[in-house]
Amino acid sequence: MMLENLEPVKMIRTCKVRTLKEGLSDSDAKLLDGYLADSDTWTPHRLAKALGSKGLKIDHRQISQHRDLMCSCSDILS
Ligand SMILES: [Zn+2]
Repeated sequence: MMLENLEPVKMIRTCKVRTLKEGLSDSDAKLLDGYLADSDTWTPHRLAKALGSKGLKIDHRQISQHRDLMCSCSDILS
């Protein structure tokens, strides 16, 4: 028997949002959290574009993953 104690493999992805936030000041990081929480105003595309205009490169898919807790943050925080 080799399948005992089988556990689902967690998808560990490096989270660009987290990396990006670590490079920000506390106040900017809080602002970013606010934008991330406001998904009505800030679709992933809009947010990625706006951040890009500030010189912060991030892919909208990485924002989606972060919001959906499909990124590595959810593992780190839990
Ligand atoms: Zn994340």
